Amino acid sequence: MRPITRRRWLTGSAALAASTLLPRCATPQGRSDSSLRIVVVGAGIAGLGAARRLVDAGASVVVVEARDRVGGRIWTDRSLGSPLDLGASWIHGTTGNPVAALAADLVTVPVDYESMARYDTDGKPLTDAQDAAVDRGFDAVLEAVERDRDTRDGDAPLASSTGPARDAIARDATSRRLLDAEINTAIEHEYAASVESLSVLHYDDGEDESGGDVIFPGGYDAILPTLAAGLDLRLSHPVTRIEHRPGGCTVVTTEETFACDRVLVTLPLGVLKAGVVQFAPALPDRKANAIARLGFDVLDKLYLRFDRVFWDDALLIGRADAITGRWAEFLNLHALTAAPVLVGFNAAAYARTMQARSDAEVVADAVATLRSVYGPGMPTPTGMLRTRWGADEFARGSYSHLAVGSTPGDRDALAASVGDRLYFAGEATSRSHAATTHGALTSGRAAADAMLR
Ligand SMILES: Cc1cc2nc3c(=O)[nH]c(=O)nc-3n(C[C@H](O)[C@H](O)[C@H](O)COP(=O)(O)OP(=O)(O)OC[C@H]3O[C@@H](n4cnc5c(N)ncnc54)[C@H](O)[C@@H]3O)c2cc1C
Repeated sequence: MRPITRRRWLTGSAALAASTLLPRCATPQGRSDSSLRIVVVGAGIAGLGAARRLVDAGASVVVVEARDRVGGRIWTDRSLGSPLDLGASWIHGTTGNPVAALAADLVTVPVDYESMARYDTDGKPLTDAQDAAVDRGFDAVLEAVERDRDTRDGDAPLASSTGPARDAIARDATSRRLLDAEINTAIEHEYAASVESLSVLHYDDGEDESGGDVIFPGGYDAILPTLAAGLDLRLSHPVTRIEHRPGGCTVVTTEETFACDRVLVTLPLGVLKAGVVQFAPALPDRKANAIARLGFDVLDKLYLRFDRVFWDDALLIGRADAITGRWAEFLNLHALTAAPVLVGFNAAAYARTMQARSDAEVVADAVATLRSVYGPGMPTPTGMLRTRWGADEFARGSYSHLAVGSTPGDRDALAASVGDRLYFAGEATSRSHAATTHGALTSGRAAADAMLR
């Protein structure tokens, strides 16, 4: 493998003028090809996974990344004294999972989602009968959705199916509130999207995962060094324009300009939707329509650190608020990592409401809901950390979903290359495992293989 040197890359304004002088991509078929010059846009797990594979095959690769760090939506913060994941936390399904393979030598902890304590809005624990009714009711809602989509002609919001089902199953205000909380946490948190936005026909498309879920007590970012080692990474290099012609490509960043044979785009769907990166020529209609139709909304986390643990042993602490979606679930991190930390989650509508609020307001809102359960004597947090993924200019949301009017084929359209110059990867391009780290990694590796063919 020929070492990558900056000399091999045309940078700065000279590149724009000289891009037609690029040597032709000499031997695209061989894994030992060292003349293929590729720019990977984005150093998330899709981009890093692709770059690793390309470099290992002998290609010359530069990874350009807007942030001053690698990982993208894998982002571990240690400012509160223990590793806290702002993006991905779980490996979903360890069996046959390429992220689990990367984590083989790391400490991971299995997660038992059955360990749950549920409370109503007044802070009273649900009775066993109420608990069972919520589980039964939620199963009945899912069955109603199945029946509904077997008979319907066109797409509609998932809410058009879950709403009537919920009304038929839950006959009083309390039962409705409890069932709404379950729909919020089990569907809206899972897909980072509201039932009003999700497609009733396709929202749950994708392959099932098996083997159970695990988290990283030491932080998810521990998987990144293996992928990133030795790569030519250009951090703090936001891309503004990508030109792709039969003769070659040009990638313009705010810092440098690169001329190359091929470009791999792993930009988050939210960034593609915002149109902040220009493509010349413009992306084909099929891809542009897929970008417009697929959904991209928010799941946000609030980490609250306390000086002591005062909460349940259960892993998940649910609370059905009168406002659906308001701090409906907390994760007891102490059960997994021994850190005295609770993690509150909000998705879609309530997450967007919180996004506009100050840190103090968000903490006060979350603490008020916890106080309703644990009483006025509950300690105040000694530290907080919150995400605002919707306001993050290099993500513009948390992860993709199949919105009403979109189909799984839109993910294929997003993944498709444009000619043999412009390639795409990233979680939103994964038909089988969208919205996950392993879907993103697999898509990056698949794009790398396609570029080398
Ligand atoms: C709150 C949250 C919780 C999640 N929980 C889980 C979980 O538990 N398990 C799981 O498997 N998945 C989870 N996910 C999803 C998972 O994090 C993503 O699917 C995955 O990390 C996406 O990887 P990617 O490479 O496709 O995109 P990204 O990681 O977003 O990488 C894209 C890169 O492009 C960069 N970029 C953006 N704009 C530009 C530009 N103009 N120029 C250059 N670079 C640019 C970004 O900075 C980023 O580094 C979660 C995500 C979030 C936000």
